[in-house]
Amino acid sequence: MKRFFSSIFFLLVAFQIVPDDLITFFYYTDKETDFISVKEISPFTFYADNIIETVITEYEKPYSVTGGRIVTIKTKVLSAVAKEKGRSTVHIFVIPDSPLLISKGGVITSDDVIQVVFIKEGYHPDELLHELGHALFSLADEYGTESHSPGKYKHTPAKNISYEKNNIGWDMIARIFNDEKIGFYEGGAGFKTGVYRSYPDCLMKSLDSKFCPVCFFYVINTLNELTNKDIDCNTIFELYKR
Ligand SMILES: [Zn+2]
Repeated sequence: MKRFFSSIFFLLVAFQIVPDDLITFFYYTDKETDFISVKEISPFTFYADNIIETVITEYEKPYSVTGGRIVTIKTKVLSAVAKEKGRSTVHIFVIPDSPLLISKGGVITSDDVIQVVFIKEGYHPDELLHELGHALFSLADEYGTESHSPGKYKHTPAKNISYEKNNIGWDMIARIFNDEKIGFYEGGAGFKTGVYRSYPDCLMKSLDSKFCPVCFFYVINTLNELTNKDIDCNTIFELYKR
């Protein structure tokens, strides 16, 4: 009798194993198109087991575009798709052949659960990664073209941008990567002056660069949090830079 109970207990424990958290990517396309799997883009490659990708075509077009610039997202349609497809920490919709003139990425629901990335036709994987920098990792652009100072935009919350020459987070990351180049470089978040980025070059500044150490740190931190993994950013930074 004792043996019987212990085997029941074992079964219950076995069924209680909770799978790691997931990030789901939906690629919406209304025509035959090639899209690049996020799983093949570093550093997502290190989290491939926690990513589910689905191509959806059977739903009402989830967005409309006016004049090549103004986009209206049908939040209810995307929420319904996400709900139907199951449990995930974050759902990201990628529109890989968007009629928009520029690529865009951002959060569309207040709980950060659903995010949309529009990629203009004929895109490069780095363009998707840059837009995911905005949508999934809350990073700001590190380029600056506007010559006036940020003014009221100063409160844009982004960890890769600093409005003072003083940033505790960046000091810590400089120690982790042992990189003396991490400092205060003027220009970022769209402005030439009055704002600093942490590195001369970064994917958030131009598409021919890789993520700078500061952005990379926050990217890996977020991915670890979303997937319950504990990947060391320093170890994989070398692999990412190759
Ligand atoms: Zn950066």
